[in-house]
Amino acid sequence: MNEQRIRSNLKKLVAGFFAIFLLIGGISQYLFRSVTDLYTESVHGRLEERALQYKKSFIFKMNSDIQNLRGMACILENIQPENIGELLSSLWDASQMMGFVRLAYFAQDGESIQLTAEGQITAIQADEEAAEMQYAIQQALDGNFYCSQAFYDSVLGYNTMGYTTPVYMDGSISGVLACEVSTETYAGILSATGSVSNIGAAAVLNHDGKVLASTRTHQIHGFYDLDGSAYLTDEMRSQLHKALLIDKTQFFEFNMRGLTLYACVMPMEIYPGKIVIVDTDAGISDAVSGVVHYAHMIGILFGVTSLIFVMSVLYINRRYNMQLLQIAYHDRLTGAYNRDKFFLLLDQNWKKNQEYTIACVNIRKFKYINELFSPTRSDQLLKDICAVLKRHMEPGEFFCRDTADTFVIALKTLERNAVRARLEGIFSEIDECCKSIHPNYPISFYCGCASTIDCSMKSRNDEELMSHVMMALSHAKQTQQANISFYDAEAHEKEKLQNYIESNMERALENGEFQMYLQPQMELAQGTLSGAEALVRWVVDGRQVIFPDQFIPIFERNGFCVELDYYMVEQACKQIRTWMDAGLTPVPISVNQTKLLLYEEDYVNRICSITQRYGVPSRYITLEILEGLALENPKKVSACIDELHSYGFHISMDDFGTGYASLTTLSQLQIDELKLDRSFLVQADQSTEHNRRKILQVVIEVAKRMHISTVAEGIETADNVRLMREMGCDYGQGYYYSKPIPAEEFTKTFLEPNTSQPQL
Ligand code: C2E
Ligand code: MG
Ligand code: MG
Repeated sequence: MNEQRIRSNLKKLVAGFFAIFLLIGGISQYLFRSVTDLYTESVHGRLEERALQYKKSFIFKMNSDIQNLRGMACILENIQPENIGELLSSLWDASQMMGFVRLAYFAQDGESIQLTAEGQITAIQADEEAAEMQYAIQQALDGNFYCSQAFYDSVLGYNTMGYTTPVYMDGSISGVLACEVSTETYAGILSATGSVSNIGAAAVLNHDGKVLASTRTHQIHGFYDLDGSAYLTDEMRSQLHKALLIDKTQFFEFNMRGLTLYACVMPMEIYPGKIVIVDTDAGISDAVSGVVHYAHMIGILFGVTSLIFVMSVLYINRRYNMQLLQIAYHDRLTGAYNRDKFFLLLDQNWKKNQEYTIACVNIRKFKYINELFSPTRSDQLLKDICAVLKRHMEPGEFFCRDTADTFVIALKTLERNAVRARLEGIFSEIDECCKSIHPNYPISFYCGCASTIDCSMKSRNDEELMSHVMMALSHAKQTQQANISFYDAEAHEKEKLQNYIESNMERALENGEFQMYLQPQMELAQGTLSGAEALVRWVVDGRQVIFPDQFIPIFERNGFCVELDYYMVEQACKQIRTWMDAGLTPVPISVNQTKLLLYEEDYVNRICSITQRYGVPSRYITLEILEGLALENPKKVSACIDELHSYGFHISMDDFGTGYASLTTLSQLQIDELKLDRSFLVQADQSTEHNRRKILQVVIEVAKRMHISTVAEGIETADNVRLMREMGCDYGQGYYYSKPIPAEEFTKTFLEPNTSQPQL
């Protein structure tokens, strides 16, 4: 898991925790709301119930007053106006018992009378009455029973409420019977009903906010006076005003002096006003309100604790992850980044197209430093190196301690000389600062560098880059002199090919990927075909051709050349057999033989068995050996040549003139043919090289005298042909005649009867 993953997991965890926290918070908020709603509902239910009780008792009293007045009006019905006063006096006692504080009769047309408090009849005028009463009288004259709004009776000196009812005579309204009841009576009724709590109170209010009656609870005395109450805030006042105008039961709550008050406003129906009841929840339902308050507290407590818990868990988790990252990405000894972190940073920057030179630095002979000095001092050396490296890093550059004494540095500098200068600066500073610890022991380094630019764009990966760095490092280790070495792409390609060759050679031999190409050898005098040289080609996947100079030296080193050469001898025999079977006149084929073959125990036997297997006369096979062989072990080579001769094989000395073989070599070895190396011809061709030409001439002449035929390699032009002819060389081979070509093509071009052979 890398740092980014850990960080993103951490973020996910935080998000997860918060999501859970919000979910729990949401659920508890929902539950809390439900409980609160339930509670409010129960409070409202209780208030409504109580308001209904107030209303009932109020209406009951009103109804009974109405009935009483109506009953009296019935008594006065059809009574002559002059007798009304007398009858009214007789009703006075009863009316007082009913709670009437005034009784009056207003005649339709005549004298109106009223009873004084002492029961005396006095005359009155309707227009002297309070406006509310006048209106009520008018309503009754119109045939309605009417209940006035509360008003201040200036004669009585307190608030009253008036009732009026028509009095009939002979079916038509003769007057109006009116009574007044003190609002205090109604207040008594409200007070008698009782509130829910000891501070709860009720009132009957007109629509305009005038108080008809209110309970006598001392705490809220004057509370309902919407214009003058000191208890009400502006908000409460406006809420009450609004509620009084709406014709349905309403609830609201408000806060007064730290108490939550609940109000219920209920229409009165038969009276143009509202019952208003105000109470606290404490009195309404102590238990429920307690539960809600506790739930509230617990909810808050839960929220705070779970938040603290979540934050602590996240904090601990973050610290833990940070510690993990520290362990995962840092080297314990030096505190520098480790390899994982290094490549993480490299990848991140690489993706942003930042190119780097990666330098892998290794301390020379660190093993001995460890042994020579104490491990503590060696550890200190490593720490000092890190400190110096740190100082030399520019923004965006970084390094790591890879293994014991190996540091990998990412430098933004790309130009090789500049990189070299920076690294040398670093090394000398390290050496300088380490002198105090190891005064007599200079610290030196070797360092391999590679640039990210050299990596293939498609597969930009650390492995490729590091393999480049390691190649350069191993080169620096091998060279010893230069301690900073840069990755060489060409050398790398060569190494890759070598690796491919070595790991695929056996498979390729089995699969027939080594193919025999033939290059014609021509008689220089007549220009006719005299033979062919077998040259191997490694054809990969039927397309890509690997040339012998790329793999023969490798095969000579690893010994595989022996197998390949036997295989080529077999291919040559096979070809001659094919020609013979096809009725074509075969030409001898020269096969190159590695010097390793001559040290093989059963070399001659194996060659013989191959020719025998194909029934090919051995004179058709010329074995080309290299001139250097004669110098290595002339006796053994000579014996081997003799043996081969005895079986009829021809022996040719290849590449004569490239090594140190001299003409005396020719006398030591019984060879049949001398192949003059191409370089001989190139130099002899240049007019300035008279000496070389003379030497060539001498070689040819000596060979002739020893009955050794000569083959000039590398005939490329007609001039070459002419020159070699003039010098008396017998045969020629080269691009002038033909490049090495596949055996079938060779057959078609040079051997088949209907194809006219090129006369060259
Ligand atoms: P070589 O035996 O001296 O072969 C001649 C080389 O010269 C061949 O290169 C041929 O293609 C090249 N050549 C021929 N004519 C001309 C010319 O006019 N101009 C130039 N510039 N070059 C010419 P090739 O085929 O690449 O082989 C290179 C060498 O590899 C051979 O040199 C030989 O030493 C070795 N070799 C090739 N096949 C085999 C093999 O089967 N076994 C062994 N042991 N060595 C082989
Ligand atoms: Mg050859
Ligand atoms: Mg040669």
